[in-house]
Amino acid sequence: MKRKITRRDFLNGTQVAIGASLLSPWTEVFGTDASRFDLGSDYYPPAKTGLRGSHDGSWETMHARVAGARWPQGPIDEDYDLVVVGGGISGLSAAHFYRRERPSARILVLDNHDDFGGHAKRNEFQVDGKTRIAYGGTESIDTPSGYSDVSKALLEDIGVDLQKFYEYFDQDLYDKMDLSYAIAFDQQTYGRQKLVTGYGSRPWQEFAAETPLSGNARVDLVRAFTDRRDYLSGMSRDEKVALLSKISYRGYLRDYVKVDEQVLEMYQRWGMSYWCVGMDEVPAIDILGYTDGGGMPGLEHTLPRVGGRGVEPYIFHFPDGNASVARLLVRRLIPEALPGSTMEDSVTAQLDYSVLDQADAPLRIRLNSTAVNVAHTADIKAVDVTYVHSGNAYTVRAGKCIMACYNSAIPYICPDLPEKQRAGLAYNVKVPLTYTKVMVPNWRAFADLGIRFVYYTNDFYKQVELDYPVSIGDYSFGADPDQPMALHMCHVPYFDDIQGPEQWRAGRRKLLETPFSTFEHHVRDQLDQALSGSRFDADNDIEAITVNRWAHGYSYNPDLLWEPEYKSDADKPWVIGRQPFGRISIANSDAGAASNTNSAITQSYRAVEESLLN
Ligand SMILES: Cc1cc2nc3c(=O)[nH]c(=O)nc-3n(C[C@H](O)[C@H](O)[C@H](O)COP(=O)(O)OP(=O)(O)OC[C@H]3O[C@@H](n4cnc5c(N)ncnc54)[C@H](O)[C@@H]3O)c2cc1C
Repeated sequence: MKRKITRRDFLNGTQVAIGASLLSPWTEVFGTDASRFDLGSDYYPPAKTGLRGSHDGSWETMHARVAGARWPQGPIDEDYDLVVVGGGISGLSAAHFYRRERPSARILVLDNHDDFGGHAKRNEFQVDGKTRIAYGGTESIDTPSGYSDVSKALLEDIGVDLQKFYEYFDQDLYDKMDLSYAIAFDQQTYGRQKLVTGYGSRPWQEFAAETPLSGNARVDLVRAFTDRRDYLSGMSRDEKVALLSKISYRGYLRDYVKVDEQVLEMYQRWGMSYWCVGMDEVPAIDILGYTDGGGMPGLEHTLPRVGGRGVEPYIFHFPDGNASVARLLVRRLIPEALPGSTMEDSVTAQLDYSVLDQADAPLRIRLNSTAVNVAHTADIKAVDVTYVHSGNAYTVRAGKCIMACYNSAIPYICPDLPEKQRAGLAYNVKVPLTYTKVMVPNWRAFADLGIRFVYYTNDFYKQVELDYPVSIGDYSFGADPDQPMALHMCHVPYFDDIQGPEQWRAGRRKLLETPFSTFEHHVRDQLDQALSGSRFDADNDIEAITVNRWAHGYSYNPDLLWEPEYKSDADKPWVIGRQPFGRISIANSDAGAASNTNSAITQSYRAVEESLLN
């Protein structure tokens, strides 16, 4: 029997939602009833489908705050040693580090979402009575050898044994099945829509011959991959590095490799799920880590890579991604919330949300709660934190406060910060993107067509890919193509007339205005398109769709072409932004200007250290 897709309709337009919030009577109301925070025994957000990620109800209060809404400070009805704003990996780590130093501390973690973990989001689906698990955001512990000592120690402390992923992650499965990477060429650019399989695994001549590329473009594509040419011959390695850091990959392909415009277009959106801009904004040097295994052409013999990405396999992945890291942190903070004691048993253990915010517990995680004002008391001996929960505003008093939320939101929440610091925090414009999970009863179509990953040259979703083959504890990956799977599709808003932060701001607005039905339409259309050579039929073969919409997604990473050079660390906007301000310290991956879990943890440790000193 086919399950009906659950939809959560979305207000069509950000401005509508903000306007409605501003008119609501709760802007003046304060609540005092602590039972309002009870989540109930049947509260289980990972099982929700439809529009997730930054779901409806999570963002409207903060957007109203940005638009000028105010909540007067209410009576203080709770006090804590530490309040952490933001319950992502950084906020949860901050609570952990602080409590380690101050075991008797009373700590409150606030988060605006209905689940903890921030980007590290768990999605669950029920298929034929079985639970299938997927990652809705933060997907893997990427290159853990590069993690700080603090981050490595934290992972170990919560029970993550990285070595075990070599056993749990089946690195050969898709290779053994001869499943290849494919490109879905679009009609608008290439005259006809066509799926070509075997990218990087078939001889380039053969691959190119099947594409709808023009004759010149085919020749250039093959040459870019097969010519063992140094396109910057005569330059020293240092000179090459200097040049490739200043020009875009698109510019390099155009001006040095001299490939046809159609080849440039083929790669223009290649990095949209990673850099979230076109290849005309990504420095050519950044491509170095992606040249092998049929990645991106033209640089392999110009600047042979030494070490770097690719040395460590991309296998450090739980079925729900780094949501498991967040869940293991919660187990450490509130052991009764997640039964069991190992990383293996945590994967299938059901989290009990009803114990996250228990009256009188020394550590509480309060969901659905948006901080709107954080300010020192007049005598500077404490910090008052006002937040909105279920339409009511509450104020709690804290000895210290750690802001582990999006850094760009902090100037609105902490209006007393110095202007220079506010500007530093505002610099980090988060990158919008969505991770859509499509539950299918089987992945036979992919196996029959011999594909594992499809890159669409110019379409709404940039890619669809099979899930990572990882089995841990009682959770088994469906290695047989007749078993169900959550396919992964990624959409990043793209505009060809604006760049960088301007594009990301526009993309954020676009994401919030896009209804679920649009995502659903493109899922069906693009799967039918890519899998048309098989018996797949999107009308019958999709069990459920969850769109994890991250309007505030990746932290900005300062590695794009237009990033200025800073004289010293102290001049970097995010370093200026993360300075402690009295009893308020600043965490989040944003504080390290690095979109990764290592930064989330490392920055939380620094913030806790500062907080203990000040
Ligand atoms: C789609 C996606 C995929 C990613 N994949 C990877 C990956 O594979 N590996 C990797 O290392 N990193 C990945 N990242 C980067 C990821 O951001 C970090 O790894 C990490 O999860 C960030 O944790 P954080 O706690 O710093 O921030 P967040 O996860 O953003 O947590 C901050 C929390 O604070 C909340 N908040 C904001 N404002 C308020 C407020 N006013 N009041 C209360 N709460 C508030 C936010 O809503 C959020 O829940 C990915 C990110 C995204 C979006």
